[in-house]
Amino acid sequence: MAKKRIKVLELVFETSISEERIKAEVERIAEEMNRDLADKNPIFLGILNGAFMFASDLFKQITIPCQITFLKLASYEGTKTTGAVKQLIGINQDLRDRTVVVLEDIVDTGITLDTIVRQLNGYEPREILLATMLHKPDALQRQVRLDYVGFEIPNEFVLGYGLDYNGYARNLPEIYTLVKE
Ligand code: 5GP
Repeated sequence: MAKKRIKVLELVFETSISEERIKAEVERIAEEMNRDLADKNPIFLGILNGAFMFASDLFKQITIPCQITFLKLASYEGTKTTGAVKQLIGINQDLRDRTVVVLEDIVDTGITLDTIVRQLNGYEPREILLATMLHKPDALQRQVRLDYVGFEIPNEFVLGYGLDYNGYARNLPEIYTLVKE
């Protein structure tokens, strides 16, 4: 497939993962979850804002009894992680003794997910499973055990499919990587 180039604010990006590949991967993850979690009555926790598209596409393919809710935790500005992770907000369900499936857009350093898991543990769930559309293994700084991963990608800034650059480009149906010029 020919690479598509776009400009978002002052930066140039080109396609790195097509819509078709994303769709196939979301279907694969959903199949695994439908099989693994069939008797577990899981509650999915989508992490806003970035995971909204992944969570929506995935959730449509889940065929077992389940619930979903969305949490907010902003930690990122521009193209570099700030390291300042905020509080998890939006949990109004009882998570005690539940199978919780966290849905993330991307795991970069792992600091965000590590913080989420620590905070979720306080609600005494039965188990916490972690799903992410994208993972940058080379950027990882925290030990996080990922249960479902869409794509492992190089340590480069990406956007599209829910991921933004200063609030823009979340609407793009494919994933784009920053072009270094
Ligand atoms: P971590 O805490 O794992 O370093 O970063 C997780 C969060 O940083 C993600 O949920 C996402 O919001 C943001 N992030 C990390 N890498 C990227 C990237 O390449 N592009 C965009 N747009 N956001 C990223």
